[in-house]
Amino acid sequence: MTASVNELITTAPGASCDADLAEGPWAFDLSPGYGPGASEDDVIPDPVVRPGQLPVAYQRMSDDELHARIRAAKEALGERLVILGHFYQRDEVVQHADFVGDSFQLANAALTKPDADTIVFCGVHFMAETADILARPEQHVILPNLAAGCSMADMADEDSVEAAWEELMELYADEDTSDGRASVVPVTYMNSSAALKAFCGRHGGIVCTSSNAATVLEWAFEQGRRVLFFPDQHLGRNTGKAMGVPLEQMPMINPRKPGLGVEPQELLDARVLLWPGFCSVHKRFTVAQIDQARAQHPGVKVVVHPESPMPVVDAADAAGSTDFIRKFVAASEPGDVIAIGTEINLVNRLAADYPDRTIFCLDPVICPCSTMYRIHPGYLAWVLDGLLEGEVRNEIVVDEDVATHAKVALERMLAALPK
Ligand code: SF4
Repeated sequence: MTASVNELITTAPGASCDADLAEGPWAFDLSPGYGPGASEDDVIPDPVVRPGQLPVAYQRMSDDELHARIRAAKEALGERLVILGHFYQRDEVVQHADFVGDSFQLANAALTKPDADTIVFCGVHFMAETADILARPEQHVILPNLAAGCSMADMADEDSVEAAWEELMELYADEDTSDGRASVVPVTYMNSSAALKAFCGRHGGIVCTSSNAATVLEWAFEQGRRVLFFPDQHLGRNTGKAMGVPLEQMPMINPRKPGLGVEPQELLDARVLLWPGFCSVHKRFTVAQIDQARAQHPGVKVVVHPESPMPVVDAADAAGSTDFIRKFVAASEPGDVIAIGTEINLVNRLAADYPDRTIFCLDPVICPCSTMYRIHPGYLAWVLDGLLEGEVRNEIVVDEDVATHAKVALERMLAALPK
């Protein structure tokens, strides 16, 4: 049996990109992780367990004991409970999930379990927020570890986006909008706080995923002259480029600099205004890694996620969402060699699912999403035991006003079908 990513990290010193990961979950949990961008408007859970405060009894339980507790709680809770596991979660958690998918697939999967009164989201904070927005009012959404944020989501906070928006509105104030098209339409990637989804809902904007970004941009260009795309610069640039938008019409703004750090004429000529956010996992992929994979495995097929930098996407054979990558692998032939540029847990799972193919991660260093990694079976067991005791622990509750406006932007997205 192949070793799980977690086993590789904790048993092989220096194997991962972050030495703190090898210290084990409880030590790693003490480092900061719950960023303000992903939580600023949520109702503070009660009771709240801060990072590093999981009861010691759960920290000391063996893996076998934790898995047995989780299975027993699932059995006892039956249809009242649904556990969602993101593709990037470790195997030790995914094995307990009722559904495994990307953030949007999981939010929708929860809707197929109307009898469940609790949704346990094994993913990161913005995903649990989206599930709460789409869930029935009486359903509870739980994030097992509140420190599981998303560094990319935290790179765009509401205040900075509001300030940048005001500057842009001032600059575009004299533009002729008699054709009914707005000067600028805000588009937020799913990987953003509920507050930013609500911002888009309020300002005629929309949410996108990595599967439907091109369709969403087409929609946005029908509504306005240009798009303000946040937080991921790479998804924005890769999508715009694939749609034929010249690079010089996709300037990256700097919300901390006067005039957003871009010449006014460039802002006027822009079609896509990019926010300087990125995913710390996907930005690690390089063209040199692709060259090396091709040198070592002639005929290798390279597929990457569009959160990767543009030169990497350009050099790959294909680029697409996690679901696209899974389908790419499923459509390959036995004996094929496939190098993948996405999070290591998904790559390893695909390698295990297709043992007759050679599947490996482009990044030679093991670099899991360190915030996804914060969901450990210990947290899962603890929140499920809480449900058995009648206590909803680590509940994610999106403010009602935020949820109302965020839903508008999410519903616009639902109407823009993926290509
Ligand atoms: S993989 Fe990147 S974008 Fe996804 S949750 Fe982790 S940090 Fe955020």
